[in-house]
Amino acid sequence: MDPGAKILSLEQMDQWVASEKASGRRIGFTCGSFDLLHAGHVQYLAAARDLCDRLIVAVNSDASVGRYKNPLRPIVPERERMYVVAGLAAVDAVTILEDDRPLSLLIRWTPELYIKGGDYHVDELRSGDDVRAYGGKVEVIRPGFDTSSSKVIDRIGVLSAHAEPEAASAQTARGLVLLDRDGTLIRNVPFLHDPAKVEILPGVIEGLVQLQAAGLRLAIVSNQQGIGLGYFTAQDFIAVNQALLRELGARGIRISRIYFCPHSLADQCSCRKPAAGMVIRAMRDFKAAPGQTFLIGDSDDDMQAGATAGCHTVRTGKEGFGPAAEQILSLLRQRSKG
Ligand SMILES: [Zn+2]
Repeated sequence: MDPGAKILSLEQMDQWVASEKASGRRIGFTCGSFDLLHAGHVQYLAAARDLCDRLIVAVNSDASVGRYKNPLRPIVPERERMYVVAGLAAVDAVTILEDDRPLSLLIRWTPELYIKGGDYHVDELRSGDDVRAYGGKVEVIRPGFDTSSSKVIDRIGVLSAHAEPEAASAQTARGLVLLDRDGTLIRNVPFLHDPAKVEILPGVIEGLVQLQAAGLRLAIVSNQQGIGLGYFTAQDFIAVNQALLRELGARGIRISRIYFCPHSLADQCSCRKPAAGMVIRAMRDFKAAPGQTFLIGDSDDDMQAGATAGCHTVRTGKEGFGPAAEQILSLLRQRSKG
C-alpha cells in the first residue's frame, strides 16, 4: 500500500472523519512537525493509536515550522514529512497543519481525543479547554525515549565539528592540488545550478586518479557569484557538487574540501579569484606550503589567485586536464630525483 494514500486534504478529511464516526469509531488527533522521525515519535504515535480506533496526524507545514520553531527548520519538506508519517502502521490519516496551533482543525473534526506527546501536564495544553468544550478529551503521552529531532541535529552538529581523522597515508601527503571547478573539472555552464548538467571534462578522471595516487590531496576552489547575485542558491551549488562528487567517488577519487566564494564582484571580498583568499585558506587548512601546492584552472583569474598565494599554477589549455596533471606529476618526479 502506498503511504501517500493516507494523505488527505482538509476536504477529504471531512468526509473520512464523518464516515469513521458514522461507523462508531473513536477518532484520535495529534499534530507535530515530525522533522526527523525518531524512536520517540514512533513510540508516541503507537501509544496514541492504542487509545483510539483511528489516528489522524496533522503535520505542520514548512511555513508554520519556520514560524514556531526556527526559521532554518524544517530540514525535511512537508510533503516528505507527511509521507514518512503516513508510512507508520499506527497512523490512519495524515493532513497538513498550516496554522501554528491545531485549534481550527480540532473544532472542524471534533475528535474524541486530542493527543500530545511530551513531558507536560494535560492542563498545560492551550487547546485543552476548547477540546473539553466540544466534549473531547485530552491525553498526554510521556516520552519513552530520551530523544528529539533537535537532539539528533545537535549530535550531527557536534560530529561535523570534529575533524575526521585522516588516514595515516594522508598524513604523509606530498602536497595539495587545488582545482577550479567550472571549465576545469566540468564543462562550463553559465550559472550552473542543475545537477543534470554536470559533465566531467575529458581527461579529468584519469588525471585526478594519477594525482591522488602520487600522494596529493585534492580540493576545489570555485567562484560562485551566481549565489551572491541571487541566480541560484547555496543549496543548488551543493546539489551540483553532490552530482560531481558522486561520479568522482565512483572512480575512487576523494575531494577533501570545497572552497567557494558566493560573493559578487560588487562585494569586494578577499576570496573571489583572482584574489587569493580561498587558496591561502586551503593551504592553511591542509598545512601545505606554497611549494607543495598546485592550482589547476582554466582562467587568468585562477592563475592570478595561485600566483598571489605563491603556489604552482597550471593552466588547462585546449588539450584539457590530462597534460595539466602530467605537468604536476613530472615536477614531482623531478623533485624526487633531485
Ligand atoms: Zn568572496
